[in-house]
Amino acid sequence: LADALKRIGRGGKAVAEGSAAIFVPLGESELAEAIRGGQIVPYFQPKVDVRTAMIKGVEALARWRHPERGMIAPDTFIPLAEKSGLIRELTMKMTERALAQAAQWNARELRLTMAINLSPLSLDTPGFPQEVWALQEASGVPADQIVWEITESSVVANLGAALGTLARLRLKGFGLSIDDYGTGFSSMQQLARIPFTELKIDRSFVHGASRKPHLKVILQSALDMSNRLGLVSVAEGVETMEDWRLLQESGCSVAQGFLIAKPMPGDELAGWLKGHLGRVRELRQDKGAH
Ligand code: C2E
Ligand code: MG
Ligand code: MG
Ligand code: MG
Repeated sequence: LADALKRIGRGGKAVAEGSAAIFVPLGESELAEAIRGGQIVPYFQPKVDVRTAMIKGVEALARWRHPERGMIAPDTFIPLAEKSGLIRELTMKMTERALAQAAQWNARELRLTMAINLSPLSLDTPGFPQEVWALQEASGVPADQIVWEITESSVVANLGAALGTLARLRLKGFGLSIDDYGTGFSSMQQLARIPFTELKIDRSFVHGASRKPHLKVILQSALDMSNRLGLVSVAEGVETMEDWRLLQESGCSVAQGFLIAKPMPGDELAGWLKGHLGRVRELRQDKGAH
């Protein structure tokens, strides 16, 4: 017990010391400098085909490589970027870097769909689609290899502003994904107006659903709707083999989650892929194999 108390004591102190630094709020000017200075970098998380277990694409997720504080998660600085009007600049930096990575993989015959998250606040600014096309054309990555992810909640809150931009992006051939589906109170009517190509079910309906009958029903209904609308159905938050098996049984086409891989720097993907090939057989086999 004495040992345990000592450990807690030490841990507590360490946390307290660390948090003194962490709780000094991140400032807008610091973020602006970080964006311009290349400290905001994309990590990439694989999206795999549920039937074959092979990689289909990746999602670019922003990380702030802070010189003193280490890696900072997007939940902290995306809201700050949105509040301070820096989000458009951040989106463009992320897009530029993500597309440069996609072009590099293309050159090595690794053709992966690149998913990029969009804030609704960058959608209603004039000239946004043109700026995106310019980046896409400069990168040489075809538009149909790029998917924009927009969270369901943000689309609903900004439908008027978002609709025109989203329609323009779709007409150019980009894919459009509804992110975190099931958390946003969107009406069917609202969703029907946006030319989505993909529906991404929030992880709260995915992880652990095999043991929770009501979650399972919601997951299955969302997958059925998505499939019948002809959308690519994606499940996020696949953390266990049970989650994965349920998706195999439920007709989900693409899965993403820690069971498959955590987000990683682009130059680690090739190494991950090698290791993943060794797991494909196990992932493909279903529970009641004939
Ligand atoms: P999101 O787009 O829904 O991304 C999925 C989040 O879930 C990521 O967190 C990812 O690391 C995490 N995740 C993936 N698999 C699992 C899993 O199996 N279990 C659990 N518990 N979590 C998993 P991350 O990278 O911290 O990003 C959080 C959110 O920040 C993103 O949610 C997205 O909304 C936003 N975000 C990230 N990058 C950008 C960006 O460049 N622009 C904008 N506007 N938003 C971004
Ligand atoms: Mg996303
Ligand atoms: Mg999501
Ligand atoms: Mg999310």
